Amino acid sequence: MSLTRATATDLARRLAAREVSAREVVDAHLDRIAAHDGVDADGDVWSARPAGDLGVDDTHAYLAVTATAAREQADEVDARRAAGEQLGPLAGVPLALKDILTMRGAPTTCGSRMLEHWVPPYDATVTNALREAGVIVLGKTNMDEFAMGSSTENSAFGDTRNPWDLDRVPGGSSGGSAAAVAGWLAPLAIGTDTGGSIRQPAALCGVVGAKPTYGTVSRYGLVAFASSLDQAGPFARTVEDAAQLQSLIQGHDPRDATSVPQDAPDLLGGLRDGIAGMRIGVVRELQGDGYEPGVEAAFARSLEQLEGLGAQIEEVSLPHAPYGLPAYYLIAPSEASSNLARFDGVRYGLRVDAPTAEEMNAATRAAGFGPEVKRRIMIGTHALSSGYFDAYYLQASKVRTLIARDFARAFEQVDALVSPTAPSVAFGLGDKADDPLAMYLNDVATVPASLAGTPALSVPAGLAEPPDGSGRQLPVGLQIMAPLSRDEVMYRVGWAFEQQVRFAPEPTGPRAVAAPDREVAS
Ligand code: GLN
Repeated sequence: MSLTRATATDLARRLAAREVSAREVVDAHLDRIAAHDGVDADGDVWSARPAGDLGVDDTHAYLAVTATAAREQADEVDARRAAGEQLGPLAGVPLALKDILTMRGAPTTCGSRMLEHWVPPYDATVTNALREAGVIVLGKTNMDEFAMGSSTENSAFGDTRNPWDLDRVPGGSSGGSAAAVAGWLAPLAIGTDTGGSIRQPAALCGVVGAKPTYGTVSRYGLVAFASSLDQAGPFARTVEDAAQLQSLIQGHDPRDATSVPQDAPDLLGGLRDGIAGMRIGVVRELQGDGYEPGVEAAFARSLEQLEGLGAQIEEVSLPHAPYGLPAYYLIAPSEASSNLARFDGVRYGLRVDAPTAEEMNAATRAAGFGPEVKRRIMIGTHALSSGYFDAYYLQASKVRTLIARDFARAFEQVDALVSPTAPSVAFGLGDKADDPLAMYLNDVATVPASLAGTPALSVPAGLAEPPDGSGRQLPVGLQIMAPLSRDEVMYRVGWAFEQQVRFAPEPTGPRAVAAPDREVAS
């Protein structure tokens, strides 16, 4: 199998056996990125071409490719391995990092004009953990501006395309990370998930994506959107790869006040134990109206497959889940309006000069933020303002507590919960871009776990046809939710399910990305 088609675990094994060098693995990925992602492949940090100059077949997963640093790190890993050093389980494996996490020496734009030229002077804890594990960052991936969106169309730097159909969205907000893994531009990626931004793009791109328990992966160096919800997590081609990657980045960090001060769960020990006798709850409220028939059919099939593995399927109610979406769309914008106040033309990034400080501030924010970010700041400022606080923010916070209690009660009855990850398969670029409410509905199944803080995983559950008459077959995800701090449970269910589904993570059909060649690399 070619180096860019392999899973992370495969690559790690071949690297450890010294059948291949980290440098060869990195170069194979850089070659493919240069050919298929619409970047200008020169200099130490390659930049994505402006949206208007992208080829129709370019995925546009990366905003910046840290080519020189990646090659240098690969050489270092190879040298350490040659010297007989014991290296980590994924040492030498490359990865794509969402452009909301800082990395020294590379821009961190958050998909925004506001931070277009901002180069952070420090590494996020996640970036640092990857570096220490010998995992090699290839570059920074495209995203909805400040992680607000479900299609990556809110990026200030052009749309990312879905590798399964380059005329469709990859989901969002971590669309670049999902598309990189699905389009063979990286075997692993890091995304962030505030209301579904890892799980939904994973589902739409046919890859695995996980939102860990809130507080298990450090937010230090993660540019804040909604601090009580933001959580970084892994994308991969297999459940095992995702569990490996989460194992590397999780753990307590004193530099993040919301980091959970407890030992991180062992995600790998029981991974292959199977799910015979496990009780799995189907969430009554997360199906039916609003879910595409193809998604529902795939979900029904998934339940049979889980049953076939010996799990006991029960219907479970999360009575307040239907209020999750409105609560989320008050809480997240409220926190965003506060967090984004720091972009004032003085401290970070863009500055548009004007005669007074106030005018400079207004002109900077008017020029720097895109329409969705402005909408969120206005909604959030309103929801927090005196006279409206009780009716909106406070009320939404109460709903959040009720949802968390629903989960706690459900987990007294069952070991894990399942639902479709998203109500639809990948939709066309531009289809929902002018309709914020239609866009928000993408998150209906993912926000409940976000509000409750519980871990959730999306695993490919096969293909389904959208109801748009296109006749396309596109990926669907199964969402597996586990109790707080029991992330190993969702991985165990996901691993068993994945063996049963045997999903081929290979974009096929008209307008799918060109597959890397299949010859065996030495
Ligand atoms: N789509 C949701 C939103 O726009 C979730 C985003 C996220 O998880 N970062 O807020």
